[in-house]
Amino acid sequence: MMSGLSRSYAVGLLAGATLLTATACGAGSAETGSAAGGGKPAVVAAFYPLQWLSQQVGGPDAAVSVLTAPGVEPHDLELGAHQMAELGEATLTVYIKGVQPAVDDAVDPERAFDAATAVTTLPAGDHGAEAGEEGHDHEVSYDPHLWLDPSRLATVAVKLGERLAAADPAHAQGYKDRAAATAASLGTLDKEFAQGLTTCRTRSLVTAHEAFGYLSDRYHLKQVGITLDPDAEPSPARLAEVAKLAKDEKVTTIFTESLANPKVAQVLADEVGARTAVLDPLESKPSGDYLSAMRGNLTTLRTALGCGA
Ligand SMILES: [Zn+2]
Repeated sequence: MMSGLSRSYAVGLLAGATLLTATACGAGSAETGSAAGGGKPAVVAAFYPLQWLSQQVGGPDAAVSVLTAPGVEPHDLELGAHQMAELGEATLTVYIKGVQPAVDDAVDPERAFDAATAVTTLPAGDHGAEAGEEGHDHEVSYDPHLWLDPSRLATVAVKLGERLAAADPAHAQGYKDRAAATAASLGTLDKEFAQGLTTCRTRSLVTAHEAFGYLSDRYHLKQVGITLDPDAEPSPARLAEVAKLAKDEKVTTIFTESLANPKVAQVLADEVGARTAVLDPLESKPSGDYLSAMRGNLTTLRTALGCGA
């Protein structure tokens, strides 16, 4: 006899088999409009978190590629001929306007999904005007680092599922199901952050690259960014301002990131008697995936901010 659980599992398997059949029948037809992925829709993700999300939601139905190679600072991306061709052939480009000016200029809005349009954005950092002349986000008025809030990324996942379903109606249910499952995983991560950061000795997050505005907003932390641009040298006045704040708030840790020059954070840490730790803004592929890297960030934050069990 089958229990209710295994019965629904069996039904799920049958549904999966039906989908596989549909895929086989659909193969070779021109309906998806792109030959690059063997008939699958070609999804071009601008940089890592969007690649991860596209792979989760696209699953076996989409051919996902990424414009920003691992280890490349995405804000500085320049597009070569190969990448321009990739964009030209894409069924859907997944990007966030304001992260990469080169991508913003190159996308065809008719075949692109700007994740910033799916969520409520936050204004750019309050010293944005200072960094704006050379900063990466001079073209938009909002902070583009929205992927660092799992709850917002869950919303993006659902919208991406809808866009892929519309682009590839034969596999619409698969996209929607995987989008829902991805949103659920992100919801679990969101709960872990909320619980893990409930009670902390300090809520000030001093960071070299001001990428954690959404994370801070979601979990009631106060981000103090030294600079918006990971490559820029902060002014002595800004450094002195942050040093004073770090001392006042008894900050023990200055956060840096793997891709940026850690020198500025180290200078500041030495001055206020703090140590440095790496908080990953996930702008490039981590050693694990989005979920494991974010859990690593949570562990780092709990230690640095002195959060209780
Ligand atoms: Zn950034």
